[in-house]
This record gives sequence, C-alpha cells and structure tokens, in this order.
Amino acid sequence: MSHQRSALSTSRLSSGSQLRTLNHHDTYTCPVCGQGELSVITLTEAFGCSFCRHIFDVNLTSQSLHMLDSAQPMVWFWTGERWRYNRRSNAHVTAVVWSFALVIACLPALLIILSNYMFPPIDGDGVNQFSVVWTLVTLLAHAGIVSWLIAEHYQWPWYVSTKIRLSR
Ligand SMILES: [Zn+2]
Repeated sequence: MSHQRSALSTSRLSSGSQLRTLNHHDTYTCPVCGQGELSVITLTEAFGCSFCRHIFDVNLTSQSLHMLDSAQPMVWFWTGERWRYNRRSNAHVTAVVWSFALVIACLPALLIILSNYMFPPIDGDGVNQFSVVWTLVTLLAHAGIVSWLIAEHYQWPWYVSTKIRLSR
C-alpha cells in the first residue's frame, strides 16, 4: 500500500514538471528490488530498503546512491524521476563474468561432442541418439548455472525480488 502511495505521489510530482532532488527527507523506490521503499535509517545518513534490506550510502552533491553491503561496487544516479544504474564502474568485471560464463556453458558440451567424434559408438552410425541427448542435457544444465551467475552479477530487480520472496 505504501509503495502504491509513493508511486502515486511520484507521478503527481513528475506530471507537475517539478523534478525531485535526492534528499534525506523523501522516500524513493529501491533500485535493487524495485519493490521496497528507500528511506533514511534512524540516527544515520544511510538509506535502507524496506523490502530487500540493502543499505546504501547517499551522496547528495553527485545525487548518487552507493550500495554498501555488496561485494561489487554498485552505483545509481538519481535523475529526478528514477534511478540510472552506472554500468561503467564495473565494465572490467562484466567482461570477466561474460567470458567465464561462455566457457562454463560451452566447454563441457564441446568436450562431449569431441569425445563422440573421436570415439564413436561401436553399434551406431557415429553419433547416436544417446550422445545427442547427453550433449543437450549438458548444455542446458550448464546454461542454467551460467544464467544464475549472470543474474547475480546484474542483480535485476525481478531476480532480487523473486529471490527474497522464495527465501521468506
Ligand atoms: Zn530493495
């Protein structure tokens, strides 16, 4: 309910062509989960989310939000209406994650294809039904692991909120 109320007040503000600045007295939609509300934690200057419980450091001069309880540096900038994720800060990590993901997804399936080619089944015509199914299962299983790794890296709001709902 409170989330809906804040969404309503936000749309009313933006329709009045007056953009909100990031300050310690307002509440904002959480950029991580997209469900909770960000507000100042009592007796601190940090922001906390009511849904995913993440803690953020606020920089009022640069109008940015920095996630404190995360291994990777995650920064968002407040545009006056919504959050804009700063992707440039971890471009190197993103490249490493994608290269690693590609290797994990493709290498095991390639090894199975190669072993089927080098040691074809004695009673088949080279590639039999079983090896095709085995290759596909390997590819799908590793693709599942890789999607989890990528979702953990990008922390998409739908992924974070689903993860929190399942853990409750
Ligand atoms: Zn949140």
